[in-house]
Amino acid sequence: MEQKNQKIDIVSLRSDELRERFAQIGEPRYRADQVYRWLHVQRVSEFSAMSNISKVLREKLDNSFVIFSCAIEKKHVSCYDGTVKYLFRLHDGEYVETVVMRYKYGLSVCVSSQVGCNMGCAFCASAIGGCVRDLTASEILWQVYAAGLDLGERISHVVMMGMGEPLVNYENALRFIRQVSDPNGQNIGVRNISLSTCGIVPKIYELTETGLPVTLSISLHAPNDAIRSKLMPVNKRWNIDELLRAVKDHTEKTGRRVSFEYTLIRGMNDSEENAGELAARLCGMLCHVNLIPVNKVGETGLSATETQNVRRFADVLTRAHINVTVRRTLGADINASCGQLRKNKKENDS
Ligand code: SAH
Repeated sequence: MEQKNQKIDIVSLRSDELRERFAQIGEPRYRADQVYRWLHVQRVSEFSAMSNISKVLREKLDNSFVIFSCAIEKKHVSCYDGTVKYLFRLHDGEYVETVVMRYKYGLSVCVSSQVGCNMGCAFCASAIGGCVRDLTASEILWQVYAAGLDLGERISHVVMMGMGEPLVNYENALRFIRQVSDPNGQNIGVRNISLSTCGIVPKIYELTETGLPVTLSISLHAPNDAIRSKLMPVNKRWNIDELLRAVKDHTEKTGRRVSFEYTLIRGMNDSEENAGELAARLCGMLCHVNLIPVNKVGETGLSATETQNVRRFADVLTRAHINVTVRRTLGADINASCGQLRKNKKENDS
């Protein structure tokens, strides 16, 4: 987070860390708390906006710290369902995508954890071009802040399901979760935060050990290793059995239900036989399956399962007493899937 001669990324600091930094420059604890509120409640992007902080201190802060906010480069609002998709520009000119979805229970923001992604899943637009860099905790936080400020509404839920693999950027992802849920900041309950992973098994165990009551979402997408390895290279490192062992450990230790994401791709993983195999593997687990008709991503050549086959697939799971929902496709008119907007921006720029 900090390098010699470089300014410190202040938004990534927890309140206790900020107090410590302030103590080092001879500033009292209440002053640190005032600045913390400006950063995480008011969500200001400049020290000059901190009106109850003296000019001298503001200048001092400006010299040693930097606020990594993000700017709206593009904003699309779906005319079907009010889903909002942002393309945010970061301080170094990179772009990330963030989506806000409207549900009965409130606004849910889907944040990115990396610029691009190295996981190489066959159906995903974020994989094209690989991972440029990890996001700092502050850059993940600011996606929530910028969206909330722009919409002028409270964000009540967060899903870490945007670009990137959060468990590869584990330290920053965890720091983000702790900060966004801080009662002295945005106070979004940890139970209202979902983290989605393609299956970085050792990090799932680590996350479980933290005891944080986040909802774990697993991108499974296949009922067996042959199909999963074709779609998701990560499966060659940790196969389905190893992944499900980590998930079982999680449900047993936390008592919390895990969500499996299953993208239905025509002719690839969507037969009744595939559904039966999936049901057999998940039988008895504290889980829920989310079926997602694949969103078409340009050059992948994969197409979505026909509606009646989605139903048939879901019915097989239901008969096996597995909770299943077919995800509503939100924002279909605004390319709201993972990585699509950034990919288009890059193509238009070149
Ligand atoms: N790396 C994490 C989080 C990012 S992907 C993970 O793998 O879970 C978040 C979700 O978006 C995954 O479940 C993924 O399967 C889904 N997704 C990606 N591309 C998609 C597409 N073209 N259509 C439908 N869902 C997609």
